[in-house]
Amino acid sequence: MTTTLHHAPPEAPAEPMELFRIMLEDEFAAETTRLTQLTVCARRPRHGGYDPRILDGLITSARQRIAATAHALRRMSEGTYGVCATCDKPIPLGRLHIAPTAAHCARCAPARDRS
Ligand SMILES: [Zn+2]
Repeated sequence: MTTTLHHAPPEAPAEPMELFRIMLEDEFAAETTRLTQLTVCARRPRHGGYDPRILDGLITSARQRIAATAHALRRMSEGTYGVCATCDKPIPLGRLHIAPTAAHCARCAPARDRS
């Protein structure tokens, strides 16, 4: 039995925006799963074996990734995805491939987001 619901094969690339939407939705799902698992660990005796400070850091970073991904998906539905929030210029597709949640072009991005 075969399924036809897989992502587009390489010889038929999806529209860039469609590809970024798939990347963002995959990341949103993966980070949500991660956050759920980390939260379960945090409630276990001895934090499921994690150093509590490291676990806190992982939970914070999973929350930030979820928020950034949700924000990018919202920009996509509003039609502002891929446009720099500061200078209104298009964000190069290469940058979006590396950082699909980027809301700024490389020039306007805060230093910590630069890639
Ligand atoms: Zn900019």
